[in-house]
Amino acid sequence: MRQATAGVDLGGTKIQAVIMSSGIVVGQSRHQTPKTDAADVIAEIVASIRSALDTAGMEPSALRAVAIGTPGSVEVTTGHVSNARNVPGFVHDVALGPTVGAAFPGTPVIVDNDVRAAVMGEFRRGAGRRFNNLLGVFVGTGVGGGLILKGELHHGRGNTGEIGHTTVKPGGRRCGCTRLGCLEAYAGRLSIEQTARHRIEKGQKTKLFDIMQRKGRDRVTSSVIADALEQNDHLTIELIDEAVEALGLALANAQNLLDLEAIIVGGGLGDRLGDPFVRRVEQAMARNLRFPESPPEVLGTELRDLSGAVGATVLIEERLIEERLIEERLIEERLIEERLTEERLIEERLIGEGNTEEQA
Ligand SMILES: [Zn+2]
Repeated sequence: MRQATAGVDLGGTKIQAVIMSSGIVVGQSRHQTPKTDAADVIAEIVASIRSALDTAGMEPSALRAVAIGTPGSVEVTTGHVSNARNVPGFVHDVALGPTVGAAFPGTPVIVDNDVRAAVMGEFRRGAGRRFNNLLGVFVGTGVGGGLILKGELHHGRGNTGEIGHTTVKPGGRRCGCTRLGCLEAYAGRLSIEQTARHRIEKGQKTKLFDIMQRKGRDRVTSSVIADALEQNDHLTIELIDEAVEALGLALANAQNLLDLEAIIVGGGLGDRLGDPFVRRVEQAMARNLRFPESPPEVLGTELRDLSGAVGATVLIEERLIEERLIEERLIEERLIEERLTEERLIEERLIGEGNTEEQA
């Protein structure tokens, strides 16, 4: 029986897959994202789904559907992706959905935005379950956001949630999007790493890159930043202070505009630095609130690094339910139509019989 769904969170460094059955994670796997090209990345996505199925003790025939959350621009109807700069080969158009679908014949595959998936994961199965109006902010390589309003994911015209590119300092640091002073330029992991490198060139000292090498990494990961903070590295403390202030300001602006019930702070850096970081962001936000007496609840994620993969399965389950409802409504409409036609025929026959009697 096809009772399970597979969810995949595609990132620049890892591919996280989960198998969900009855709303519970029954299998999972994590693979490294290949550093080569799109074909290798897609093959690795398929492999990650297969190994997650193995840990669940399931065959591919148990899958009802597969859902993939990816960075970049997503064409939801075709499953194509482009402009994902962190994933090798994903800058130009990639037929992600159709190619993964070919490996699982007869199983529908959907593709959606990774941050939207993560927000839905926390909203339905994580820290956001109690709320109807919330903002999810994911602080990782970049900073992404997703908005739930009146119990539904808000799409706008397709570009909702870019809190990472709201301005926190006019004329400030250069952001990856080319503009100056975006939140992401202060709180995104990549920007923190680049700023640290610039400061070293200017003569500042830091243990950040020694820690990176000792951990065998080629990038300043969230865990490298966490270790540097624990070792009281001054530059890292300074950069994280700036990230906290920037986040606090952006969240307060969002709150002042939307009067939300809750704000969830997650992502690689948010999850790794954990509650102390979330509480500091909350305090920085509180200082900038118009109505500090009624703040939103500020929470960390519950699903942690599974938010995106679990959320992808939520998106596909909701879409399957929606499709079934549409199908049921069509069947119902057809039945009503048939009954009306039948009644009309009977009526016409009766009238016909009446006329015959009159003539006799
Ligand atoms: Zn930007």
